[in-house]
Order: sequence, then structure tokens, then C-alpha cells
Amino acid sequence: MSKLKLKTETKCQHTDTIDQLMPEGCIHYSKKLCASCNAFIGWNKSPKTLEEKDRRTKLISDLKELNLSSFERSFVTSIDTVMHLTPKQDEVWKRICDKYNKM
Ligand SMILES: [Zn+2]
Repeated sequence: MSKLKLKTETKCQHTDTIDQLMPEGCIHYSKKLCASCNAFIGWNKSPKTLEEKDRRTKLISDLKELNLSSFERSFVTSIDTVMHLTPKQDEVWKRICDKYNKM
């Protein structure tokens, strides 16, 4: 019983949630709160982030069909599951897309 306690303690027992938009400029898009007691449940991904991720996933599968260098192949594989690219990753990603006329 005591082992499970930590995990259940942070969550309320309600099931209804509401989304609350975060102010502009915040790195999070919106947060999920309990509709009954306002407990914080988690962060929501913005539609834009999800769209970009979706688009990138499709491009990555396209790119993998091509004759990529081993660096390019391991790079696109490594960012396949990443939601936000770092500026450095973004730079490399754009370069690869450019080279293969994707984007
Ligand atoms: Zn609650």
C-alpha cells in the first residue's frame, strides 16, 4: 500500500478535466486541470506543435526511403520521436530537407 501512495497522492479522484490556455509567450500552450477541484493534471501540446510534429514524422518516413548518408539517417531517426527540436537540431533538419527538396 505504501508504495502506491506517492503516485496516487498527486492525483485527485475526479475524472472531468478542463483545459486552460496559458498566456502568450509561455512555453506551454495550455494546461489540463481537474474540473472539480482545479488540481493540475498536465500540459497540453499546442495544435501547432502537434501539426509540426505530424508533418515532420511524414517527412522523416519519406526521407528514410531515400539514399541518406549514415549521419543523415541516424539524425532523422533520432529526431523522429522528439516533439521540440533544439535550434541546432532544427538547423540540421532544415539542411537535410533542403538537400532532398522536402519542406
Ligand atoms: Zn479533482
